[in-house]
Amino acid sequence: TSKTLPTQACDQIEITPNARRVLEKRYLRKDSRGRVIETPEGLFRRVAKALAAAELIYDPKADVAAKEEELFGVMSRLEFLPNSPTLLNAGKKNGQLAACFALPVEDSVEGIFDAMKYTALIHKSGGGTGFSFSRLRPAGDSVDGEAGIAGGPVNFLNALSIASDVIRQGGVRRGCSIGLLSVHHPDILKFIAAKDDPMALTNFCISVAITDAFMDSLDKGTDYDLINPRTGKVTGHLNAVEVFKKIVAQSWKTGDPGLVFIDRINRGNPTPNLGPIETVTGCAEQALLPYESCNLGSINLAKMVKTDGSKSVVDYEKLGTVIKTAINLLDNVIDVNHYPLPQIEEVTKKTRKIGLGVMGFADMLVLLGIPYDSGEAVKIAEYVMAFITDTAHDASEELAKKRGVFPAWKGSVWDAPVGRPQRHASCTTVAPTGTISLIAGCNVGIEPFYATVFVRNVLDGENLLEINPYFEAAARHQGFYSGDLLQELVTCADLQKAESVPDTVKRVFATSNRISPEAHVRIQAAFQRHTDGAVSKMTNVPNTTTPQEQADIFLFGYREGVKGITLYRDASRELESLCADEKA
Ligand code: UDP
Repeated sequence: TSKTLPTQACDQIEITPNARRVLEKRYLRKDSRGRVIETPEGLFRRVAKALAAAELIYDPKADVAAKEEELFGVMSRLEFLPNSPTLLNAGKKNGQLAACFALPVEDSVEGIFDAMKYTALIHKSGGGTGFSFSRLRPAGDSVDGEAGIAGGPVNFLNALSIASDVIRQGGVRRGCSIGLLSVHHPDILKFIAAKDDPMALTNFCISVAITDAFMDSLDKGTDYDLINPRTGKVTGHLNAVEVFKKIVAQSWKTGDPGLVFIDRINRGNPTPNLGPIETVTGCAEQALLPYESCNLGSINLAKMVKTDGSKSVVDYEKLGTVIKTAINLLDNVIDVNHYPLPQIEEVTKKTRKIGLGVMGFADMLVLLGIPYDSGEAVKIAEYVMAFITDTAHDASEELAKKRGVFPAWKGSVWDAPVGRPQRHASCTTVAPTGTISLIAGCNVGIEPFYATVFVRNVLDGENLLEINPYFEAAARHQGFYSGDLLQELVTCADLQKAESVPDTVKRVFATSNRISPEAHVRIQAAFQRHTDGAVSKMTNVPNTTTPQEQADIFLFGYREGVKGITLYRDASRELESLCADEKA
């Protein structure tokens, strides 16, 4: 384990003890003996310096020092953080800075094994990957005219999973992967059951790519076509209701597969001139073209609230300033990034997609006194995200005027019908923020609070008691704080049963297990309505949910307009995805 050297340069950054631990374990530079030789301030300085240098590409007279201060400022005040690979690798030799990648899997032995090699390179460099297996011919199909020997998507999915299992990102965590298969693929039933064995595909999430045609058949209760991607011919039919039931049953049992509404995603494809989108990325937050990558960054909404007289309100002025800086920072990442493959560099630089999102939404709601499970929360989610996306597009336009539009702009939707210069084919996405929210000391992404008081199992088996700081402040302020209450909450973990806590506080601090699945979905959909990319959201459903209820939640999500949905029935599977166990 690493040790901290006696005090480095004076460190002004206010970070929580947990954030410090995460930084020391994974993000701060170490010497050859594993001793930490960087402070959190030094980390943000390294990142700011490396990214500010990109200003010179466009303006040899740029005030790089001022830009460095601006970028350092938003990060060190924990108002905005770029994704983990940027924090880890910026300013280092050959640093790879993007979090998400999409890889095509071609229908050939070479194509499949290329995908395997590319995955290893991406994961080693700190990224996660999304794959579509829909181009692969079905199992048992002919190869070189000889019948019955093709391995099929599920076999290759397993092989890819095993191969990527042994790679650790920068030596610290494993890459998240998601595999998609079209609902029209002849092997779809095998795919749906691919994670039935709890030991299979432990580092892969799987989702079924659902088309409008399938949803139409589901609605009418009719059969739909299965198509062999090698020949383009219809090879059979399945009943949409039966297939949907199988998806739901499997998701109810194991959490996988989720659904990705691929036609809906393609209606939002900003560059149809470059071809269709086939997959989403590792944690499903971004829809990318084959070989495209995207760097992400998230605004800490906990820092975007101010008091106005006796009221707390969203500080839109501050938010606007942070958005502008963030867009500039993420644009610079594209230029200083070292890409794991030339194809990835080429596609990424054609579209220049970036993913500005948010974290600490639950913190913001508590500060505003709004319960998560309420119409007001949906409204605030819409206002805030609409503001972020609109301002991001304004900032992207400003950059386009100085630096040029993204190279594939001509023929993109920004060319026509929109008719607006943009530096980036898309600007916003809501990432999971699993690690950067810990560093920022805010709640993860757009999730509700998980618990009010809990024991956090930190790195290396250390346990720390964590009290939601807003709850503690409210309890002290309103006079119901006590050691007994903390004990009660940490053992039974149910705030709603604690007698000493006023109802108004219970309502605002309701934790994820008390939030209805519909409320989870409504918040996801509210963000989605104003996000260019997709929205990563974990929708927990109670253990007692029936398969029929789970089916209704999937359909509710579809009607609400989400681009993808994954449901986790509490305790349905002991083994959580790698993303969960590799965090914290
Ligand atoms: N990711 C990964 N391994 C992990 C966590 C994340 O490969 O253990 C990738 C994955 O592709 C995901 C992206 O990083 O889509 C962003 O995840 P998150 O926002 O949780 O990352 P953070 O920047 O907080 O580390």
